[in-house]
Order: sequence, then C-alpha cells, then structure tokens
Amino acid sequence: MLDIEDKALLDELNGMDAEELIKWAFANFGDRAAIGTSFQLTGSVIIDMASRHFKRFRVFTVDTLRLHPETYETIRAFEERYGFRVERFVPDERLLKDMVDRFGEYLFFMDKAKQEYCCYVRKVEPNRRALETVDVWITGLRRDQSGYRKDVKKASVVEEGGRKILKLAPLADWDMESIRRYIKEHNVPYNVLFDKGYDSVGCIICSTPLLKGEPPRSGRWRWFNRSDDKKECGIHISNEGGSE
Ligand code: SF4
Repeated sequence: MLDIEDKALLDELNGMDAEELIKWAFANFGDRAAIGTSFQLTGSVIIDMASRHFKRFRVFTVDTLRLHPETYETIRAFEERYGFRVERFVPDERLLKDMVDRFGEYLFFMDKAKQEYCCYVRKVEPNRRALETVDVWITGLRRDQSGYRKDVKKASVVEEGGRKILKLAPLADWDMESIRRYIKEHNVPYNVLFDKGYDSVGCIICSTPLLKGEPPRSGRWRWFNRSDDKKECGIHISNEGGSE
C-alpha cells in the first residue's frame, strides 16, 4: 500500500507530466481514484488522457441542478464518445428544501454569505459525498486561473471528511492556449460555452462570459464586483488553496 504522505513519492508525482500523473493514479488506485470535473476545458483534456490508457475509469461531477443546458449536453457527449457513465452527485433534498424555504431560489444575489450557503448545499456537500468514495481526487485546477490558485501543486495531501486523500492537479502548469490546442488536435468534446466568451462555466446564473481583457473567473458572481482572487465556491478552499 502506497504511503500518500511520503515526501519522496510526492516529489516524484510533482515532477510528472500530466499524462504520466493521470496514468499513475488509475494504475495504482483503480476505482479509488476518480476525475472530479465540472466539464471545464481542463476536464475535457484529463478525461481524454485517461482514455488513452484505460478502458474503464471513474469520472464524477457535481450536478447542482442549475447547470447550463450546454453543460448537460457536454456530459452526454462524453458518455457517448468514451462509453462511460459520469457519476452525478446532486444536492441533498432535505438541505436544498430547507435552504429554498428559508431564502428562496435566488438567495445568492442577497449577499456573499448566502452565495456561500447556496454553494455549500448545491456543490460542496455533494462533492464531499463524492470524495468519500476516493483516495485520489483528480482535479482540473490551474495556477494561472487566479492569484488564489497560483501555488497549486500537481500533487498534495488534503484532509476531507477527517481522512487524508491525495489531490492531483495534472494540468496545474498548463495555460489556456495549450489546453485549447490539445482539445483541437485530439478532437476532444468540450462545452461550447467556451466558444461564447466563457472562461469558467458553473451554474446558469452565477457564471457569465468574460468581457475583453478581464481576468479568468471574473465572470463568476459578477454582481459582487470584487477581485477575482477569492471567487471560489468552497470545493477547493478548505485545503490546498486554489472546481475547476
Ligand atoms: S454557483 Fe450560484 S446557483 Fe450555483 S451553487 Fe453557487 S451560488 Fe448556488
């Protein structure tokens, strides 16, 4: 059994390129490794790289029940192309009902705390349930997405639900240009919203296209009018700094 906290192992993983790292994860952990994706462009690349080495591998997504129709279409396109079922983790019915009964469907407009509450119910809590099923969590985080993510490591150990798991970000050092190039060269499915000005796709109201010259993630929760550095839903906050 591999010791995921072993420094030499972590150093080795941090020195691997994206495809090697993805291959290592599924070869060593099988179904205890999974790609967690909200079908950003990074998710497209990571899934395609995994498919080059494995017929079967796990992919999960958090379905907030508020995704764009284009995102649901992307999920279908991936299932058809690669022949797997994306595991969907949806909000807990009771938590969702309680939230909507108290504050309505559109509480995220009210203030930052209510946006975070909505993200907790629709994203963070379902993601935690997904993470209970893995020892290795493969994400699409990249260093150039925001100042908050600038130190993201390719491999780090994080605590989730009182348990240590290995969190991987194989594309940590990739930029958007390389990602788009990979998708084009390998003819990989992707969310068409990325051809319509989006740099980051999330829920239907809370993510919007970028205006010319805006930094990545500026399109998220636009009404808060704040620096993009802390525009996080909470899925990646508790641990190593920096959903796709
Ligand atoms: S992105 Fe918006 S709708 Fe989606 S979970 Fe967060 S606050 Fe709620």
